Amino acid sequence: MLKGILVRIRSAVYDKRYIFTDHALEEADADNLSLDDVLTVLLTGDLESEDTDDPRGIRYIVRGVIDDIEIDVICRWRDDGTLLIIITVYVVGCDMMSVRKYPCEFCDTQLQQEPKYVTITRTRGGKWYIFEHVAARVCPNCGHRYFDADVLEMMESGMKEHPENARVVEAWAIALPDRAGR
Ligand SMILES: [Zn+2]
Repeated sequence: MLKGILVRIRSAVYDKRYIFTDHALEEADADNLSLDDVLTVLLTGDLESEDTDDPRGIRYIVRGVIDDIEIDVICRWRDDGTLLIIITVYVVGCDMMSVRKYPCEFCDTQLQQEPKYVTITRTRGGKWYIFEHVAARVCPNCGHRYFDADVLEMMESGMKEHPENARVVEAWAIALPDRAGR
């Protein structure tokens, strides 16, 4: 029988009673996961674990499979218990580098940081720079990303002297309409 919590989570997804943190969006983007992918994990995945240590409430880790890749979605209920917060999303066992075990500087998770390649947007002197395939260590709980010195130096020099392989991209800035009553 399906666990009660999964029933509640799926019902929230069907009713569109969910919100994503910016970290979840960034992490999903980094792993090339669409909104549909993340919601599919919530609708078809299993409850991997519950983290009850956090005073802000229980965090649920839902693990699902998209195209043979295991994905974890970490979520929690907002205080009133009706709105599901998608805290972060990540590919399971993505071990491109050795995994370091030290706690996050920004949250009290016991989960270890995960090595990943991410995309990061930087600004310098009014110009935008998009760095792709950037090696990072990512907190699976709060999504804060840690970059090693050599990576920071590469980004720094990339912003100073645009490397040969840099390409100009077209960007669309889209303002969404006001939503009354929010
Ligand atoms: Zn963290």
